[in-house]
Amino acid sequence: MTAPLHVRRRTVTAWVGNVPVGSAHPIAVQSMTNTDTADAEATAIQVAQLARAGSEIVRVTVNTREAAAALPEIVSRLHDLGIDVPIVGDFHYNGHILLREFPEAARLLAKYRINPGNVGAGQHHDVNFATMIEVAKDFGKPVRIGVNWGSLDQQVLARLMDENARRGSPKSGTDVMIDAMVVSALDSARYAEELGLPHDRILISVKVSSAPELWQVYRQLAAQCDYPLHLGLTEAGMGMKGMVASSVALAPLLVDGIGDTIRVSLTPEPGAPRKLEVEVAQQILQSLGLRQFLPQVTSCPGCGRTTSTFFQGLAQQIQNHIRDAMPEWKAKYAGVEDMQVAVMGCIVNGPGESKHANIGISLPGTGEDPRAPVYQDGKLLTTLKGPRIAEDFQDLLEKYVEERYGRGVGV
Ligand code: SF4
Repeated sequence: MTAPLHVRRRTVTAWVGNVPVGSAHPIAVQSMTNTDTADAEATAIQVAQLARAGSEIVRVTVNTREAAAALPEIVSRLHDLGIDVPIVGDFHYNGHILLREFPEAARLLAKYRINPGNVGAGQHHDVNFATMIEVAKDFGKPVRIGVNWGSLDQQVLARLMDENARRGSPKSGTDVMIDAMVVSALDSARYAEELGLPHDRILISVKVSSAPELWQVYRQLAAQCDYPLHLGLTEAGMGMKGMVASSVALAPLLVDGIGDTIRVSLTPEPGAPRKLEVEVAQQILQSLGLRQFLPQVTSCPGCGRTTSTFFQGLAQQIQNHIRDAMPEWKAKYAGVEDMQVAVMGCIVNGPGESKHANIGISLPGTGEDPRAPVYQDGKLLTTLKGPRIAEDFQDLLEKYVEERYGRGVGV
């Protein structure tokens, strides 16, 4: 179930491979690999991991001839793994060369990301940009005009700075930079259309690394065009900081209906899986009621009434079990992603919260009877006790999913 709480900003639809992107379609989750694209095996494995985690579009850097040459093998390996996710090529500096020299790569990619800030300086800028657009036209591909504040087109910035200096009351440097990003993106899009690229084959992003600036630049951009917008806070950072910063940055725009694809640009902690950025992006959309990816587990924070960590462990176990089971559940049980599960720490809020969930358990707090009532569809189903409470609850959860969603009740 997707709650129709937010009115999307109206856009055209751009097809990225088999994924429609635009206001008439669900907001798509994107991610990007951090493998060396020239290493086809490692890149295919990571693309597959990201896709299985729920990434609907995956971007890979195409920075060298070796990277471009590896794309057919990457796509072939993904095909063997049963993965059919659109692959986007991220081009900087030499995209005009690589796309011409490696037509098979150009054919296999679902979209080209072009950064107008580094396609070349002076007269080369327009020629190189035009070359990439010609290839996109030849192969029927969309492009993303991806402006980034760290590689902003210096000619545009210098022009707007000069114009600003002549104003009676000049804007701040930040405001001019934001204007320059929007102008760079829209001028590039307009030029792409003049070169013959259809209007509905252009997407835009304008990424900065501060939330207030992201709101400002996207609101300006959104008011001036109907291209689908890719949303993300660039260089969000690591771990909790990156997750919070991305959530705070993206949420107000998404609530305003701005954003047709999103990516959470997390710096992975050493050893952490890359797919975390996909899970965070999904959680942002799910928390806003914009999309539903997997059943929601409601668990209380715990307090002095629960001296054991047993319920924390159970909440974690159930969360992990649901995430692991979802690929299979999704294929078998329509509507299962809407399920609500409660794992609560004591009788204060436990029974109440559990009754509101599809299925919920209220664990015993300190001094309470060592019994755990389980509620299903608002009614007491059974009371668990003994050392196997966790396993028994997981079994009940499995049974509930099969009975409720296996009959198509959740459709
Ligand atoms: S449900 Fe019980 S254990 Fe959990 S936070 Fe509330 S009072 Fe504390």
